[in-house]
Amino acid sequence: MSYYRRKFNSIPIEVKSQLRRFLTRVEKNPPLLLDTYADVVEKEVWAEVNCLACSNCCRRMTPTYTFQDLKRISAHVGLSIKAFKEKWLYKNKEGEWMNRSQPCQFLDKQTNMCSIYEVRPADCAGFPHLNKKKMTEYMHVHKQNVEYCPATMKMIEKLKIMFAELGIKR
Ligand code: SF4
Ligand code: SF4
Repeated sequence: MSYYRRKFNSIPIEVKSQLRRFLTRVEKNPPLLLDTYADVVEKEVWAEVNCLACSNCCRRMTPTYTFQDLKRISAHVGLSIKAFKEKWLYKNKEGEWMNRSQPCQFLDKQTNMCSIYEVRPADCAGFPHLNKKKMTEYMHVHKQNVEYCPATMKMIEKLKIMFAELGIKR
């Protein structure tokens, strides 16, 4: 396991719980310019986080496949949609198609690269959704993702610091 991933995965639960509680307080009482603050912080996050040293999302989570994803990716790997589903996916209680196992079958575990990058699921392309608007509507997503994603964690930490500097109490 990479040092980067090991370090993140050993962060105590309480640290992540505190960040979730902070997001709950922000969700209940969002500052006027929250989305603007989030944009600033998001740019800083991507200047500091290297996904190729991490790949935690591909190792510990699953994307949800839309019909368009299924069409595009199954054609790319030379399978019918039916065969693609049978080989790798299952349908969850909500009727969504997900990976049956983790890490994802398309992750190259040596390089941390996605072997279907050009045609990857839209869910993967958008992950971890840091700049989605309005931020208050994605708080539940960030609260879930902070469990696995160093970029999400960094964004929340940076928001906390920014609020403190601006005198925004949450
Ligand atoms: S499809 Fe690619 S980006 Fe998406 S989880 Fe699998 S390896 Fe990761
Ligand atoms: S999006 Fe998050 S979990 Fe996925 S590789 Fe990047 S930092 Fe890691």
